[in-house]
Amino acid sequence: MPRPDLLSLEEARARILEDVLPLRPISTPLAESRGRVLAEETIALLTLPPWDNSAMDGFAVRSADVAGASAESPVTLAVVGEVAAGHEPEVGVGERQAMRVLTGGIMPPGADAVVKVEDTDAPQGVSALPQSVAVRAAVQPGKDIRRAGSDMHQGDHLLGSGTRLGPAAVAVLAAAGHAQLNVHRVPRVGVIATGDELTPVGLPLGPASIPDSNSESIAAQVAAAGAEPVRLGIAVDDREVVRQKLREGIRDCDVLVVTGGVSVGAHDLVKEVFAEIGSLDLWRVAIQPGKPIAYGSAPRPDGGYCLLFGLPGNPVSSFVTFELFVRPVLRRLRGEPGDQGRLIVRATLGDEVRKSAARRAFVRVRLETTADGALVARLAGGQGSHMLSSLALADGLAIIEEGPASVPAGTAVEVIRLDVEIA
Ligand code: AMP
Ligand code: MG
Repeated sequence: MPRPDLLSLEEARARILEDVLPLRPISTPLAESRGRVLAEETIALLTLPPWDNSAMDGFAVRSADVAGASAESPVTLAVVGEVAAGHEPEVGVGERQAMRVLTGGIMPPGADAVVKVEDTDAPQGVSALPQSVAVRAAVQPGKDIRRAGSDMHQGDHLLGSGTRLGPAAVAVLAAAGHAQLNVHRVPRVGVIATGDELTPVGLPLGPASIPDSNSESIAAQVAAAGAEPVRLGIAVDDREVVRQKLREGIRDCDVLVVTGGVSVGAHDLVKEVFAEIGSLDLWRVAIQPGKPIAYGSAPRPDGGYCLLFGLPGNPVSSFVTFELFVRPVLRRLRGEPGDQGRLIVRATLGDEVRKSAARRAFVRVRLETTADGALVARLAGGQGSHMLSSLALADGLAIIEEGPASVPAGTAVEVIRLDVEIA
């Protein structure tokens, strides 16, 4: 049943990814690194905490002095000073002495525990330093002390190359002393729509026009994949215009995504233009929707290469082929490990699916959880490749293998969750 004129998804994807390498690293301020991917192994430049410090507002004491303390028989200690966060203790704590400490304050020499303020007679909140304090509870040595190095030691391995820097990663790198990091350059992705019928979103429509929704969806998918969309607008179905637009995009983009004009119609010029300005390396994959996808590359004036994707114009086809082919390439260029970066879940089909036998289908489904926790995938609506409404309702794409032309409800399938991002 496989059609010899179509490539399998695996083969097409392998061929495309074969030569794709992460973009070169650039040194970037931490403040601009969120969402970028580390291009180096990072270590802790500091030991954290740098010193033993108090976890509480209270009094640093010698635990032996307060071993017998209770609410009924408090132990009174002389207060010898105060240490707040950001200050060094000026004296140590001797026998039957205490020092007021605030959270983060460095433990004074001599003290081996902290009694929280609630377990003393000292007033809570801002107040003058008392001369003495009555301690109403015994504390074990080490109580409420945050030990030096309990979070990390200088030289400890922190985050590895290939880590996407989310807010938590930014936090740990900041704490560990990194102000500047080597992260991969963000790919610039030119977005071009082709078609005489297209009008930019927001402009009045002619009698035979439709809004150019692909430029919007592709730009959004590029941004969601962590790359930078460069909108190059619409090219009418004219070879010279399409060629000019592509030439313009190649100059300073890493990738160009062109939608429309890759099928077999009289106006489908994109493949030929790929071949003219560079190469057409692959065309037509055994998938539904999205069969006519084209891929190639073109030399850039700076000596590099721009990867060229020609995605079918039908809006769902362009969306799905971006997901299956362009997204893995952008992730690779960004320096991320793995390919698609999507969670794949197992579910049972809730409806019958009809498809082209020779192609692997990606079916828009909604996921429902049954009472016993199983997932059921129901059709999110019509599956025509022009039907965006069902795409917008879908939680994911159910993968229906090549082979049968109809798959009954109850079949076990894998579903690509479109709403979940994984590393
Ligand atoms: P094509 O691949 O150029 O033959 O286009 C296939 C279908 O997708 C046609 O119905 C086009 O009108 C539609 N289409 C192509 N490009 C876009 C676009 N940028 N936005 C919305 N629909 C499009
Ligand atoms: Mg067209």
